[in-house]
Amino acid sequence: MSDLREDVRAGFAAAYGREAEGVWSAPGRVNLIGEHTDYNEGFVLPFAIDRRTAVALALRDDGVLRVASAIADAPVEIPVAELAPERVSDWSAYPLGVAWALGRFGADLAAVPGADLYIDSDVPLGAGLSSSAAIESSVALALNDVWRLDLDRPALARVGRLAENEAVGAPTGIMDQSASLLGRRDAAVFLDCRSLESRVVGLGFAERGLEVLVIDTGVKHAHATGGYRDRREACERGAAALGVPALRDLTVDDLDRARSVLDEVTFRRVRHVVTEDQRVLDTVRALEDEGPEAIGELLDASHRSMRDDFEISVPELDLAVETAQASGAIGARMTGGGFGGAAIALVPADARSRVQVAVEGAFAEHGFAVPEIFAVVPSDGAVRDA
Ligand code: ADP
Ligand code: MG
Repeated sequence: MSDLREDVRAGFAAAYGREAEGVWSAPGRVNLIGEHTDYNEGFVLPFAIDRRTAVALALRDDGVLRVASAIADAPVEIPVAELAPERVSDWSAYPLGVAWALGRFGADLAAVPGADLYIDSDVPLGAGLSSSAAIESSVALALNDVWRLDLDRPALARVGRLAENEAVGAPTGIMDQSASLLGRRDAAVFLDCRSLESRVVGLGFAERGLEVLVIDTGVKHAHATGGYRDRREACERGAAALGVPALRDLTVDDLDRARSVLDEVTFRRVRHVVTEDQRVLDTVRALEDEGPEAIGELLDASHRSMRDDFEISVPELDLAVETAQASGAIGARMTGGGFGGAAIALVPADARSRVQVAVEGAFAEHGFAVPEIFAVVPSDGAVRDA
């Protein structure tokens, strides 16, 4: 972290020829359990990770906002008062979209001072660790401070979502921003996607010597978008046929009735969501009552449900999960939207290299591309660093 803080200050000085007044940072996230439950108004349990996006900032007195990033060439600038979703594009839609969205949450964009922002990150982009929420949350926290808006963190999460939905144009939920803003060291964020109420749940991984390995298969499925839309529609169809506003309103006791009402495929889609909601609740209870070793079977069951009922896994993800389970993981599952991307495995620290070697060996044997495997540590959410 200290390196990133120094890098972002140096980047700011090089880009703008003066010193930054402050540095803020926010992490990426991993979803421990609760997949495709968010848009069904159900439960998710993500945690913030030890990869962060930092923003260095200094105010300007001319009402102009400039944003620059280590991954971009030149700063992008716009008067704060002229911010609008259709006036921002490309990567700068994330930070400038956040500034615009703050206006919807009470900032007087005609009166607030301008600012220079420089952004640097060690969250890999587009790898499913939510670099998007990290950039949104760091900028939201920074501008909330220097514009003295006094918005609380749940409100800042909604600001990030509004920016991503309206300025970037991605129809995402609020899980990622919530994890990035509300995360705590060695804890997860239990989020009710209907009420948006959240609660921090201790993981206890550190005390028990457990680690979370991310196994990035590198697979990017060409039909991911179509598959996602198809699954959403199946969920909406199922809820409508069963007479509930969202699948959140069903429990496992309703599944017998669902089976008699729905066609076979829609039934399996519904069963995934309903049982996954229950697994999130069971995971929270297991963490609180029994400790982290007790969640392994729930992670495994989540994967089977996504593989067999929701049908969003791919052979690489199945192999990663099965090999991790067979070589010492307490539990493993694919994470994220599916059709590619990453799996996670909960492993005792002393089994980490055994799992890694086994997964790499299995991938080579099957002729799959070399996966990227690294540990993530549940970490604190967004903070002012300096
Ligand atoms: P993910 O959230 O899984 O990393 P997304 O596609 O949602 O993937 O978000 C990645 C996009 O967010 C990048 O393509 C870029 O536009 C923007 N972004 C994220 N981090 C940065 C950064 N440090 N600097 C500039 N843009 C960033
Ligand atoms: Mg994202």
